[in-house]
Amino acid sequence: MTHAIEVKDLHKSFGSLDVLNGVSLTVDEGEVITVIGPSGSGKSTLARCIARLEKIDSGEISVYGRRMDGGKISNARESELLGMIFQQFNLFPHLSVLENVAIAPMKVRGKSRAEAEKTARELLDRVGLGDKFEAFPAQLSGGQQQRVAIARALAMDPKVMLFDEPTSALDPELVGDVLNVIADLARSGMTMMIITHEMLFAKDVSDRVIFMADGRIVEQGAPDDIFVRPRKERTRAFLQRVL
Ligand code: ADP
Ligand code: MG
Repeated sequence: MTHAIEVKDLHKSFGSLDVLNGVSLTVDEGEVITVIGPSGSGKSTLARCIARLEKIDSGEISVYGRRMDGGKISNARESELLGMIFQQFNLFPHLSVLENVAIAPMKVRGKSRAEAEKTARELLDRVGLGDKFEAFPAQLSGGQQQRVAIARALAMDPKVMLFDEPTSALDPELVGDVLNVIADLARSGMTMMIITHEMLFAKDVSDRVIFMADGRIVEQGAPDDIFVRPRKERTRAFLQRVL
């Protein structure tokens, strides 16, 4: 069976700093994986390598059987298999919410404005922003901006969504709305890899939880295996600090 994401023995360093020391993992279609672990353990670097935002040193990364590890890419389309959401929302400040969501399908996919805006409206409704089409990013809260960013990624119809701490930049009272949107996506069957510090959310939404430390996967398993019955001391120590 072809995995949605397959990473084999991934190594990545920045200068003399070894950040990923042989990471292997798979994500299957429809699976929701959360990645937890201390700051600096290489979680973002892992996501950025999968999204082809970093060049890898060695190993293999495939998304739906297509190699994503630099050099072997046959065309830019393959990066469109993935939608990525970052801590910072990076919306286009001079474009309305509707335009932010509609622009890439028009520019990159050649969709007509009418078609792109129709999809954008549906997606904005889905993330609870059906009344904000004409607003500009600066007029929205951080939580609303992040939901626009999610709608914008979905507009490209990705097969996998990667989230890198999507709520870390938000005021606490805005976190829930964004997590609800992500949980809805999970229930809809979207394949997702979510890096998060929201442990209760991770426990709730995940099919599998991966605990990383020092550029390695320390252990992985069903939410209860990790949060209730962790096998490794390193995992226990981390959870004691964050729970
Ligand atoms: P996490 O997301 O788990 O906090 P990161 O993947 O962001 O961890 O970072 C892992 C390590 O790699 C950290 O020590 C970080 O400082 C370092 N690092 C990340 N990106 C770069 C970069 N572009 N250049 C140099 N060092 C980096
Ligand atoms: Mg990070």
